[in-house]
Amino acid sequence: MSDAVHLTLLLPGPQPVPGCDECRKLHVARRRARHGSARADANVRMRRHQEVSHR
Ligand SMILES: [Zn+2]
Repeated sequence: MSDAVHLTLLLPGPQPVPGCDECRKLHVARRRARHGSARADANVRMRRHQEVSHR
């Protein structure tokens, strides 16, 4: 039925960098996010953090 939407929610975002506290926090927040929009938001925040801190 809504396979496309379901798939989008299952798409992996950026992976947390081992040993990074900020990544771990963002990763936990993403796992707690129940709505697709909140999850997408967490993905954006982690991507932004990794662009700055893990280049
Ligand atoms: Zn990090």
